[in-house]
Amino acid sequence: MASSSMSEEELTLTVRWSGKDHTVRVCGDDTVGELKRRICEVTNVLPKRQKLLYPKVGSKLSDDTLLLSQLPLKSSVKMTMVGTVEDDIIVDPVDAPEIIDDFELGEKEAVDIKDKEVNKQKLRRRIDQYKIKLLNPCREGKKLLVLDIDYTLFDHRSTAENPLELMRPYLHEFLTAVYAEYDIVIWSATSMKWVELKMGQLGVLGNPNYKITAMLDHLAMITVQSDSRGIFDCKPLGLIWAQFPEFYSPKNTIMFDDFRRNFVMNPQNGLTIRPFRKAHANRGSDQELVKLTQYLLAIAELSDMSVLDHGKWESFTEDNVKRRRHS
Ligand SMILES: [Mg+2]
Repeated sequence: MASSSMSEEELTLTVRWSGKDHTVRVCGDDTVGELKRRICEVTNVLPKRQKLLYPKVGSKLSDDTLLLSQLPLKSSVKMTMVGTVEDDIIVDPVDAPEIIDDFELGEKEAVDIKDKEVNKQKLRRRIDQYKIKLLNPCREGKKLLVLDIDYTLFDHRSTAENPLELMRPYLHEFLTAVYAEYDIVIWSATSMKWVELKMGQLGVLGNPNYKITAMLDHLAMITVQSDSRGIFDCKPLGLIWAQFPEFYSPKNTIMFDDFRRNFVMNPQNGLTIRPFRKAHANRGSDQELVKLTQYLLAIAELSDMSVLDHGKWESFTEDNVKRRRHS
């Protein structure tokens, strides 16, 4: 009992950086990785550029997966951060955090993660801390499509002289078509600088044929713990639903990501997309976004999309086409 109250307890830390004090709020159940993201919010120093110093913890603060409850942190003792803001916005794509392969969680384990009180609390804290900035107004009566970037819309691991060579084929056609029924939100596990850079280079921002409602980055994610896979980050859609309840809900939202674990907090709303890798070899044949356009437009008629099993999206589209042919 004592350890669970300790882990949920909030802790206000003072972090000294570059001659100034900054305050961050964390809890014992957060990881060092999360602490760094909170520090990034107030300093703009990316987590991977931060070195954290604190009395009597040795090198433990360099292990991002360690829980803060395992460290002797106190509000009265200042932490020091050493690190530089990234001025050079040409971010090396290899710096993107996705280095681990996707994994499957057992169904029961996934349900447990979603229903765990500590994770719901983390989500509530994130809702308080992360304010979504609208680039364009939410539209009445539209559904919501949330899109990952890396390997979903763009091959971030290949190199090319022009980033457009690494864009998933039919991206603009796809966004133009689904914009008729869906508001579009981009959510990447990288930093906002990278998101803005990529979306700008690909011509997604400022496109005359569709508008992007909002963009979210790694700071909007939460860290959860699973028994079999340890600690990992995910993208809780509840953050969006809480901030725009009159427009979006579990019933009208769908998210595309090549990492299934990213929707562990809302499994009924996630569609695992085939990753777009090796752009130079696959650019000529990848039809994923064409097929997904048909699916999205077909299911947009439903009043509750969460009753669907998005894992079977391909057969849904085929059935629909057959039905139309027979009628
Ligand atoms: Mg991805």
